[in-house]
Amino acid sequence: MIEKVDGEYRLVCDVCDELSEDGFEEFIHAVEEKGPLGWKSIKDKARGWMDVCPECQKEGER
Ligand SMILES: [Zn+2]
Repeated sequence: MIEKVDGEYRLVCDVCDELSEDGFEEFIHAVEEKGPLGWKSIKDKARGWMDVCPECQKEGER
């Protein structure tokens, strides 16, 4: 998901609740940078769309 923290939009991993290091002034920038930063949006059957950080994507590959 994307959450506003201290006036900045941050990517929040829906698996580990980790915040992205980068913050964005505009919501749309957070959406646009998600891919380049290595984050992925995946659709979970139960929970709907989830944003997954690069670390959690690695976990899934193991
Ligand atoms: Zn994660």
